[in-house]
Amino acid sequence: MKAAYYYGIGDIRVEDVPIPEIQVNEMLVKVKACSVCGTDNRIYRHGHFKVPEGVKRVLGHETSGEVVKVGSAIKGFEVGARVALPPNVGCGTCHMCVRGYNQLCPNYQAFGISMDGGFAEYVKVPSFAVSNVIKIPDHVSYEEAAIAEPLSCVLHAYEAHKTVPGDTVLIIGPGPIGALHVMMNKMAGGRIIVAGRSDARLEQIKQYGADIVINNRESDLKEEIDRITEGRGVDVVITSNSDPEMQKVALEVAGYHGRVSLFGGLPKGKEFVMLNTNLIHYKELTVTATTGSSLLDVHKAMDMISTGKIDVKSLITAKFSIEDTVAALDYAAQGAGMKALITSEL
Ligand SMILES: [Zn+2]
Ligand SMILES: [Zn+2]
Repeated sequence: MKAAYYYGIGDIRVEDVPIPEIQVNEMLVKVKACSVCGTDNRIYRHGHFKVPEGVKRVLGHETSGEVVKVGSAIKGFEVGARVALPPNVGCGTCHMCVRGYNQLCPNYQAFGISMDGGFAEYVKVPSFAVSNVIKIPDHVSYEEAAIAEPLSCVLHAYEAHKTVPGDTVLIIGPGPIGALHVMMNKMAGGRIIVAGRSDARLEQIKQYGADIVINNRESDLKEEIDRITEGRGVDVVITSNSDPEMQKVALEVAGYHGRVSLFGGLPKGKEFVMLNTNLIHYKELTVTATTGSSLLDVHKAMDMISTGKIDVKSLITAKFSIEDTVAALDYAAQGAGMKALITSEL
C-alpha cells in the first residue's frame, strides 16, 4: 500500500509498504478520506513530542473509510461498515476518561500522532481503539465524515462559551476552523463578525454565514468593533488562530459579561502573554478555552452533519492523492482555500 511517512521535521516520504496485518482483536480500514488539519502542518514543520526522533509515522487524524478486515474477537463491526476514526483514544480508566474527557487523558493515544493515521491506503485499528470507531450514517459521505472531527472540536468550544440568539460573535481567524465556528454560532442565533488578514479568505468566509468581515491588517479591530457595536463590545470572542496578540485584543473587544474562547493554542515560546486581567475583572468576562474534543463530541458532530444542521461539504476546496501529501500540507499552510483532503480514490 502507499503511505506518507513523516520522518522528522520537513521530511515526509511516500513509500510502498505491506498492508498492516491484524490480530483477532483488531480491524483494518481502507481509508476513503482524510482531511488535513493545522496540527498535521505543525507536526510536519515543528515536530511533536509523541513522535520521537528515529520513528516514522503516518500523519492524518481526520479519517474515514471502509472496514475491510475484522478480527474474530471483534463484536459490532462487519466487513463493509462505513466508519470514521476519532483520533483521541483515552486509557479508559483514569480520572479524565471516566468523566468522559478522553481527550484530556494523560496517557492518550492518537491516530496520526502516536500511531499511524490516515495519510495511507489502509489504517490498522488496534484493539484499544476499537471502541473509538464511529459508524457513518448512510447518507453522509466519507468526505463529510472526515470533517466530523474538526467540527467536534468547534462544538466542544461552543459548549463552553454558549452563544445565545441575539449575541454578536467575533471570530478572529478566517480559516477552515473559523468557518466551522461561523456555521456553529450562526446556527445558535448569533450575528457573526469575522476578522482576519487575508482578503481572499474573508471574502470566502461570507458564504458560511459571516455577516460582517474586517481586515485587521488594514484597519484597527478595536475601533471597528466599537463602531459596529456602538461602543458596547461583542458578546462572544473566539480566537481561532495562534496569534498571542489577538488574545490581548480579545479581552479588549469583549463587552460587559462577554465570553472569550481562547480556541487556538499558541506556539511553544510564545505562550507567555501579558494580559490586562482588569478587563476580565471589571467587565465580568468569562474566559474559556478548550482543546480537541471527546468521543461524545464527535458523535454529536456526526449527528449534526447527518441531520443537515451544518453543511461541511462546501468546506472541502481541494483534493490530493497520497503521493501528493506534501502538496496538500503546503496548500493548507498557504491558506488560499479552506480544507484540503487526501484520498486514495483520485
Ligand atoms: Zn485536527
Ligand atoms: Zn485516561
